[in-house]
Amino acid sequence: MSVTSPKAIISDRLMRMSESATIAMAQMARDLRGQGHNVISLSLGEPDFDTPEHIKQAAKEALDAGYTKYTPVPGLIELREAISTKFKRDNDLDYGINQIVVSNGAKQSIANLSLSLLNKGDEVIILTPYWVSYFEIVKLGGGIPVPVFAGIDQDYKITAAQLSEAITDKTRFILFSSPCNPTGSVYSKEELKSIADVVAAHEDLLIVSDEIYEYINFKGDHISIGSFENVRDRTITVNGFAKGFAMTGWRLGYMGAPEWVAKACAKMQGQFTSGATAFGQKAAAHALLSDMSPTYKMREAFRARRSLVIDGLNDIPGFKVNKPDGAFYVFPDISHYINKKNGDELIENDSDFCMYLLKNCHVAVVAGSAFGAPGCFRLSYAASEEDLKEAIRRIKACVEKLV
Ligand code: PMP
Ligand code: GLU
Repeated sequence: MSVTSPKAIISDRLMRMSESATIAMAQMARDLRGQGHNVISLSLGEPDFDTPEHIKQAAKEALDAGYTKYTPVPGLIELREAISTKFKRDNDLDYGINQIVVSNGAKQSIANLSLSLLNKGDEVIILTPYWVSYFEIVKLGGGIPVPVFAGIDQDYKITAAQLSEAITDKTRFILFSSPCNPTGSVYSKEELKSIADVVAAHEDLLIVSDEIYEYINFKGDHISIGSFENVRDRTITVNGFAKGFAMTGWRLGYMGAPEWVAKACAKMQGQFTSGATAFGQKAAAHALLSDMSPTYKMREAFRARRSLVIDGLNDIPGFKVNKPDGAFYVFPDISHYINKKNGDELIENDSDFCMYLLKNCHVAVVAGSAFGAPGCFRLSYAASEEDLKEAIRRIKACVEKLV
């Protein structure tokens, strides 16, 4: 009898989903590097710093103390208490421990929300440009992502009027990050208040506020939209350890939410992954309640790099460059270069532009269309000053050849 291989039948659900463009570009850069090329990858949003020593030490101690077992699904009580304290201390938010769910990264927190709150056909308004995964995670939950767009002329921030216009009786929640991935834009207190007022006028409408870049804010104090009285009970605040504490590989994120939402997400997570890693949670509790100076030091390093990158990019003809107030991204508008050519190589769109840079000057950045903003690209400046200078030199040289 002949042995046959099974047909590769992939679910419709997965077929409808696009691959994460950030992760795909970072992998392309690694592959090129593997072939011996000197690639500068500014594609992934990942601090180049190591996790602060005292947090690593806390994890080692937790391992020795036996934190090697399953934890409660929504997280160790000690960590949820630390998160509750942090929410009050930093954000004027009152989430008790029954309103907090710790997950394997903020990405899982958002997936929990999508899978737990959405029914087929429910709409989610996504402030655009948006972080790549929002769109696909909403689709995964059966929802319909509804992008509401603001370009560079609006500093990539939508207005309350735009939001109001997009709300229908099917809208379940609005979803955004501030400081924003991919633009670095930060919504001001007044802008957040006007968004809160629009949402508050709609019964049953929720806000999902992703504040993972909270500590990388060059403008002033971080404002949580959930601190406005009229949306306190309808805001889910997502956060995590990856960016502010340089803990991307630890896979730790969390949400504060109305209790019924937290309960639903814990139920979902209980069937997927259970509680996050025990010793990591112990160290995370320590991180929140101890010396924050390494976090502020990293922020200052990012601030210096931001200037370097903005000045460098502004020097390239045809680039329109925003001045981001937070995170570690810039999001230049390069529509000037669409339909330009280098010899036979035609740049038809922002993806072509990014591939052109990768191939011709070995700099990896991510196309704006992956974030709902064609004609732009995202550059992560979570890299050394030396690499950033060299990358900008290369981009300039490469772009000068486009006519
Ligand atoms: N939200 C935003 C805006 C992000 O940029 C990222 C990427 N780190 C995440 C969520 C996911 O974070 P985590 O690594 O904690 O899953
Ligand atoms: N959030 C980071 C980014 O946007 C990490 C990669 C990812 O998860 O998308 O690049």
